[in-house]
Amino acid sequence: GFISFEGIDGSGKSTQARRLADALRQLGRDVTLTREPGGSPGAEEIRRLVLEGAPDRWSPETELLLFTAARRDHLEKTIRPALERGEVVITDRFADSSRMYQGISRGDLAATVDALHALMIGVEPDLTLLIDIDPEVGLSRAVARKGHEQRFEDMGLDLQRRMRTGFLDLAARYPSRFRVIDGARAPDAVAADVLAAARTHLGL
Ligand code: C5P
Repeated sequence: GFISFEGIDGSGKSTQARRLADALRQLGRDVTLTREPGGSPGAEEIRRLVLEGAPDRWSPETELLLFTAARRDHLEKTIRPALERGEVVITDRFADSSRMYQGISRGDLAATVDALHALMIGVEPDLTLLIDIDPEVGLSRAVARKGHEQRFEDMGLDLQRRMRTGFLDLAARYPSRFRVIDGARAPDAVAADVLAAARTHLGL
């Protein structure tokens, strides 16, 4: 019962994660809804360190170490305990986001991301819902939202295109856990596909 949502900025995955949590609760399951970066008190502190600093505050390598530390805390303090209580865990981003953002967006650290993951994290979700969307649509949504976390959203269209391709490549590499959902449709239609995939996976 460990489900992740992935996708580029503005894909609508946070909305869909929330809706899936609500729907599964209505079906009688206990659900922990969480997110990265963050998801535990320590990891939320690290989130602030990384997202609220100046863009050049951390090197790509240091940023990767901070994200990995945050994920380790998230796993120890939030994800594992919830799974041990028998809950469904839904996380808005997990290690696949590091494979994309820390792995390819700020340099070529893909092999380092995988090595650190094997060393310090070692688990994958058993279902990953990739909300796939055209980067132009995603970027305009992300910019319209105007959060205080502008640094990653200033990445621009080229990088968002590489991210989209990268996520689709990951889905092709791990077909047994990935489901690709067309995120360009109305939220209700996307939510219906998401719920169907989760119900099949959970046997509900
Ligand atoms: O998903 P959310 O919008 O909350 O993510 C916050 C920001 O952190 C995003 O703009 C995303 O690009 C960035 N991020 C990152 N590396 C990760 C996860 C998220 O750079 N592993």
